[in-house]
Amino acid sequence: MKLRWDSPDRVDSHDGRYHRDRSADPYHTSRWTRISKTWRMSHPLCAECRRKGIIKPADVVDHIIPWPVCQDFYDTSNLQSLCEDCNHEKGQRDKSIIAAWRRKHNEQ
Ligand SMILES: [Zn+2]
Repeated sequence: MKLRWDSPDRVDSHDGRYHRDRSADPYHTSRWTRISKTWRMSHPLCAECRRKGIIKPADVVDHIIPWPVCQDFYDTSNLQSLCEDCNHEKGQRDKSIIAAWRRKHNEQ
């Protein structure tokens, strides 16, 4: 039995229905859905775990340089696959990077 929450496609299950309401959020565009889906098919393992020698399936596609700091949301050279744990860990680090970037950006 394949449960919905256990489906490898669950992160990308959003379709155009959300596009109208959340068009300001690039994560909810059909372009991102397509890119992230393709990326995870060719990068199914967590990149962070693999660097530690652990083989673990990825859950999400992450921007190595966090958005919006990376400027180009759809730049595939800035993507990596991560598991939930690594994504959470990196998310904490990204927060301060984004906050610093916002401060600098607003000053200019
Ligand atoms: Zn991981």
